This record gives sequence, structure tokens and C-alpha cells, in this order.
Amino acid sequence: MRPRLRPAWLALALCAAVALAARPRPHVLKRRNPTYAALSDSSLDHLVALSDLDDTLDWSRPDTPLAKLLVPRPVGSANLTRLQAMVEGHFRDLGWHVEKDSFDDSTPYGTKSFTNLVFTHDPSAPRRLVLSAHLDSKFFPTPPEDQFVGATDSAAPCAMLLDLATALTPWLDARKQRVEDGGGEEGREGQGESLQIIFFDGEEAFKDWTHADSIYGARHLAHKWGATTDHSPQPVRATPRSPLRRISHLVLLDLLGAPNPLLRNFFVPTGWLFDEFGHAEERLGLAGYLWQGLDGDAYTAKKGETGARERSFFVPRGSGVSAYAGQIEDDHLPFLREGVPIVHLISVPFPRVWHTIKDDADALDLPTIKAWALIIRLAVAEYLGLDPSAPIPNLNSPTEVKRDPSDLILDV
Ligand SMILES: [Zn+2]
Repeated sequence: MRPRLRPAWLALALCAAVALAARPRPHVLKRRNPTYAALSDSSLDHLVALSDLDDTLDWSRPDTPLAKLLVPRPVGSANLTRLQAMVEGHFRDLGWHVEKDSFDDSTPYGTKSFTNLVFTHDPSAPRRLVLSAHLDSKFFPTPPEDQFVGATDSAAPCAMLLDLATALTPWLDARKQRVEDGGGEEGREGQGESLQIIFFDGEEAFKDWTHADSIYGARHLAHKWGATTDHSPQPVRATPRSPLRRISHLVLLDLLGAPNPLLRNFFVPTGWLFDEFGHAEERLGLAGYLWQGLDGDAYTAKKGETGARERSFFVPRGSGVSAYAGQIEDDHLPFLREGVPIVHLISVPFPRVWHTIKDDADALDLPTIKAWALIIRLAVAEYLGLDPSAPIPNLNSPTEVKRDPSDLILDV
């Protein structure tokens, strides 16, 4: 991805953001998903125990997916092909639907082949919550930069998505079964919404970032899905017919894994979902799941300290920090332009190591990565109403994914 801001803006915005990060977060929710159900206190322990985070994320163990991802993996490389197979195998083992979107495109180095990987837990569900990251690393032609591994860009986010699938598959399976046993929801025999995870290819520019030399995979998939119309019989009038319209929200993870990230909301209509990630952080932090030895009052006190690792990852909405709004080019753009609601989880300012050879394992912080994995897990579980102890919402009337021009308004 690429920022469009000048350094002076960056410095100014950074100062403002740091000052505002300690303010309390407003707990105002404007719009929630129809499947949303708050996770009960009794289920929080179970949610956290759904996976052993170290099995996926501890890169000091050579057998973990994150350790394997920390290699140069530019478009078309043998490493990337091997890692795409690893990711595909991960989802096949979990029983997810696999779709490979392969295509050729011209680049500054001639025609290259790309493959987006799309995994869907329940492909029969008409709507999808999408979580996504890019699997490729930036290509550099000469040493030592050709050894760039992009630890935050985006090996760590990809590993978080692998853990998300591992952890939530049993609860996704259980919800699907409960809905089907109960006669379906939203006027259908099955579920209204499912989880989809996308690993984009070709996010990085081969040379200098331009509209033609960047986000190859996201551009291809958004165009393909926007042009496809599903003519199969639709049980409910409101079922969106194009795959693009079936996306209720697209959450894009990028540049995560380094300590002290700063996340901010860029889009008004999806602000409620941005807040959900912040609420998940707060709840897990207060309960002592994020930082060892820190919970309750200790977590609250520490969280407000600017510069402390334990302070919130999220800049409160409505704080007036808008210098970055719409200024970051990334895989979300082709979907945003088509009206897909976006949450862009990216650390801004970018990590200091961005696009340097130093974006390697030394740039990562394991407690931060584990915190991210749990925050995302809780927010997604609540969005989709996965709590096994919670009743399935009674959704008799069909719901429609709302689209309007305000989806493009920036959060100012
Ligand atoms: Zn990059």
C-alpha cells in the first residue's frame, strides 16, 4: 500500500493521534449486522481457548505458519506457490469451500500470473463477512532488498487469518447446524451470512506504485465479482445477485504485527464495526486476556498511557483526526469504489520498517500479534452471532445489504 501524504502532514497527524489516543471511546453503535449477538461472559473463556495462538503465530517455532510465511514471496515465486498451497491446505483441512481466482496481467516486467485465494465457510449463505490480507511480498530486483520478507506487510496479518479460521470453525459449524435444525433464518432454509477469508495476490507494485502497477489481485476480483450475475433460483427476493453485492463488509488487514499500532476509522457508515473491534479489545483487556498480568483496573490504568504497549490500538472516532482519510491506497479500493462497506485495519503511521529489509521477524511483537488475533476473533464471533450459548436471532424478514453513496463518505 501507499500513503499519499507528505511528511509534514504525517508528523502533524501523528502528534494529534497520540494525544487523542488516551481519550475514552464513545460507546455508540449506529448500525449492527442482523446476525449480531453479544458474546456472553460465560462464553469468553471458551472463545479464547478455541485455539492455541502459539501454534500458528509463534514464529520462533519453525513449524508454525507464521515462521513459514517469513520468507521472500513475491508474485510468481516458488515460495509464494508453496505458501499458497499451505494456506489452501489449511482451509481444506477445516472443511471450507475453496475458490482459486487465477489470471494473467501485464506488469513492468511483462505478463505475470496471479492467484487470489477465496475461502468460504458456508457458500450457501447469501451474504458474507469478508476478512482479507495480501499474501505476496514486495518484489525487489537486487540484494540485499530481494530478501525482503514483509513481516508486517502482510505475513503477520495472513497468519492471524489462519488462526481465525482454526479457532472459529467449530463455532461456525455449530451455528450452521443450529440454524438448519431451527428451520433456517431470514426466510431461507440455511444461514443468512457466513465468513469468507480472502488472500489477495499482487498487492505490491513491481516498481513504483501506480494505478496500473499495484493491487492486481483485488482489482481483478472486484471487477470479476461485479460483472458476475447469479441467475440461479433465488428463494428470497432480496438475495444479492452479484458476488460483490453479497459482501456485507470487507475488513482488510495490513501492516499489523509491530508493537504500538495506531488504528483509525476512515469511513462513517462502517464506524460501528470499527468500534466493535475497539470494544473487543477493551473487553478482552479488562478480563486479562491480552497482556499477561494486566487486567481490570491495572489494564484500565495502563491503557491510557501514551507510548505504553498496553494502550489502546484504536484512535477514538470523531476525534477530528482526518488527515489520513481516504489517503491510503490498498486492496480495499476496487471494492470501495463499487460501494462495498469497508473497514481498513491498518496501522497509521506505517511501521518504521515499512518497505525496508528491516520488516522482518525483529519488527514483530508476539503479544501484540496474539492480542490482534483475539480482538479479531471476538469481533467476528459477535458479528456473526457465533456464541453457542446465545439464541439465534429470529430473522423472519429478508434483510438487504444497504448500499448508498454515503458509503464513500469519509469519517471527518
Ligand atoms: Zn507493502
